[in-house]
Amino acid sequence: MESFQELLKSSADAHGHLCAGQVVGVRMAMLGCRLIELNEPRRRDQIKKLIIYVEMDRCTADAVAHVTGVKLGRRSLKFMDYGIMAATFVHLETGKAFRVLSTEEARDLAAAYAPEIADKYPQQLAAYKRMPDSVLFHVQQVKVKVDDCDLPGPTRFKASCSRCGQVVRDQREVVENGRVLCKPCAQHCYFTDAREITWPDMNWIPGKNENQSKQNKHSETITRGDQRLDRARRSPRPYLCQ
Ligand SMILES: [Zn+2]
Ligand SMILES: [Zn+2]
Repeated sequence: MESFQELLKSSADAHGHLCAGQVVGVRMAMLGCRLIELNEPRRRDQIKKLIIYVEMDRCTADAVAHVTGVKLGRRSLKFMDYGIMAATFVHLETGKAFRVLSTEEARDLAAAYAPEIADKYPQQLAAYKRMPDSVLFHVQQVKVKVDDCDLPGPTRFKASCSRCGQVVRDQREVVENGRVLCKPCAQHCYFTDAREITWPDMNWIPGKNENQSKQNKHSETITRGDQRLDRARRSPRPYLCQ
């Protein structure tokens, strides 16, 4: 693994700014990886051995993901919406798992570790670089049962919603009164009032008609007769889940 300073710099670049959360996140990731004995988590032979559960969607989460290479799209990054500054590092082969929690004491002790800085946030940023891990973090060894349907790799399970027909992957479907439903159809959902729409340049194709006027784009699509384009000419219809 690169040095703390190198990781902090690249993490801040990727995140968009240098902040106390980057310092905590880089250190959290370095400690978590040390504990599960994956010293090069982004290397090809190690990247598939690691899953991290982050418990917050704040700056620290970006740093943890950056340092370790875990990603939502690889299924190696799991977001648990607990609002807690913590992450659990799981080694899939050994089964070892450690939950690293940022301490409240670290905030209280920032002035003691960076007394020459008066402003709160710069003081925290400097102090979090200087504190030992034992002040910055608590660590719990934990057991994590990773279900087959949560593992990286090809989709193992698919079901079709009996109401809207959408394919639901990885056993995220809901069964209600014996019917298989996607979560939106079962109303286990973050949005409401869904209505399918059309939009003015809906037949746009990358690289194909980027320089043409909207008028031309439209006339081209009308000459083509595939099902999707045909559907595009229809008026908006209510989303089936409604
Ligand atoms: Zn930040
Ligand atoms: Zn559905």
